[in-house]
Amino acid sequence: MILFSNVSKTYENGTKALDNISFFIERGEFVFIVGPSGAGKSTLIKLLMHEETATSGDVIINNVNVGALKQNQIPYLRRSMGVVFQDFRLLPKKTVYENVSFAMEIVGASKRAIRRQVPNVLSMVGLSSKAKMLPSQLSGGEQQRVALARALVNNPAFLIADEPTGNLNPKTAMEIMELLDDINKRGTTVIMATHAKDIVNAMKKRVIAIEDGVIARDEVRGVYGYED
Ligand code: ADP
Repeated sequence: MILFSNVSKTYENGTKALDNISFFIERGEFVFIVGPSGAGKSTLIKLLMHEETATSGDVIINNVNVGALKQNQIPYLRRSMGVVFQDFRLLPKKTVYENVSFAMEIVGASKRAIRRQVPNVLSMVGLSSKAKMLPSQLSGGEQQRVALARALVNNPAFLIADEPTGNLNPKTAMEIMELLDDINKRGTTVIMATHAKDIVNAMKKRVIAIEDGVIARDEVRGVYGYED
């Protein structure tokens, strides 16, 4: 579960990015975070990942108050989250297989576990036949699948996706969304910040809309709701 309780974030230059926001995300939910540019979506995601800390209020993840974590406990928090970004962020000199296996190596997984798990997750994202290729040899949609495989290989409780379809054409974007839906149906909580109006409207998931640092709407089967 994720609980934001009266969370505000003011950056050092005085910009108030989030102003007293509260919401609860149950385990297994699929939630879109929408809102105009500058509304506070990225700040919200950074607070989740503990890249930034709240100025006031509590961010609670799986019953742990993230603000009270000691520095050496943060890696454990991060391990419970897989993250994908608009620009994929793959390692260009590593193969598809290595990009994914590396994520297991850095958390100290055994060679045996890696040999078992990497093919599983590559098969789940439909990339078994491309394991030996480099990212530059793949389409954008395929690169995002690699990023998803990497995000999921350590079985995180949460998948956080920051504009994951932003660099993809509409058809490929919908394929990635179907994959995210599958991943969610297998039990992973998915939180996706996006400007993709058509996708949000098609998926009929929970929508939390942020405007000027406050929650403007929180709807169970919501719509995008902006013209942009
Ligand atoms: P969004 O992701 O919805 O576009 P952001 O969370 O990036 O919104 O930004 C919210 C507000 O906080 C904006 O006014 C932005 O300029 C400001 N902001 C974001 N990051 C920083 C930062 N590191 N320092 C100062 N202001 C920031």
